[in-house]
Amino acid sequence: MTLRERVALVTGSTSGIGLGVARALAGEGADIMLNGFGDAEAVESLRLALAQEFSVRVEFDDADLTKPQQVRALVERTQKVLGGLDILVNNAGIQFVAPIEDFPDDKWDEIIALDLSAVFHAMKVAIPAMKAKGWGRIINIASAHGLVASINKVAYVAAKHAVVGATKVAALELANDGVTVNAICPGWVLTPLVQQQLESRAHASSRDVRHESQELLREKQPMLEFTTPESVGALAVFLCSPAAETMTGSAISMDGGWVAQ
Ligand code: NAD
Repeated sequence: MTLRERVALVTGSTSGIGLGVARALAGEGADIMLNGFGDAEAVESLRLALAQEFSVRVEFDDADLTKPQQVRALVERTQKVLGGLDILVNNAGIQFVAPIEDFPDDKWDEIIALDLSAVFHAMKVAIPAMKAKGWGRIINIASAHGLVASINKVAYVAAKHAVVGATKVAALELANDGVTVNAICPGWVLTPLVQQQLESRAHASSRDVRHESQELLREKQPMLEFTTPESVGALAVFLCSPAAETMTGSAISMDGGWVAQ
């Protein structure tokens, strides 16, 4: 129980990687603020189950993080309701796939707002209290697409590269304040976000989703395995541990060799 007495906010934690990270941090004793969209009853069961399984306090806030005011309010509510904010995990993200000439303007704006600007707004509000306390961990869930590009993902690739840049700036600014800032850059993780892409590929190719899963992996990853949300969660726990005290400004790949090529 390395994180007892710590409070963590994990954005976009009603499913996928965010939920995996929230579970891993709760497993180490951290109190958790969940955030994201989803059916109200299902989210409430999730909140209660997490609190019961790990004997930690768990709160939920459905802030829409494409709205800067709601990002600020989420951080402030976490500090108020859970008594502080020690670990900020900026995870919420969306994707849209189209060539640049067909990429809808509103999708560009939405992806930049959520995948990039929300990271800035959350760090901005969270940092002063972390500095005052002399301890903080900021973990930004970027992507292999924070380090290399793919076709048809202009907004996502631009946002994730910028998240890696913002991570480095924050790490430098906080280097001697007891606050570390790192980015995790996963390859393919089988979550609802990727499931959607697999289903549209299967629809377009008239093949099944299993076939498309293997194709998707083969196109990018030497290792033909999906990373799991649990593995990303375990890496987040490590980044919060004393062993990672001097790790800051890193973009850590967990991608089956994707960016090693
Ligand atoms: P997901 O779709 O399973 O989960 C996204 C979460 O964000 C959900 O909880 C959703 O409710 C929430 N969300 C969506 N819009 C929101 C909004 N406007 N405000 C607040 N919350 C919102 O996705 P995932 O695959 O778990 O992705 C999580 C993060 O990991 C994203 O930043 C994504 O870019 C990144 N990532 C995913 C993969 C992958 O292969 N799945 C790989 C690399 C990076």
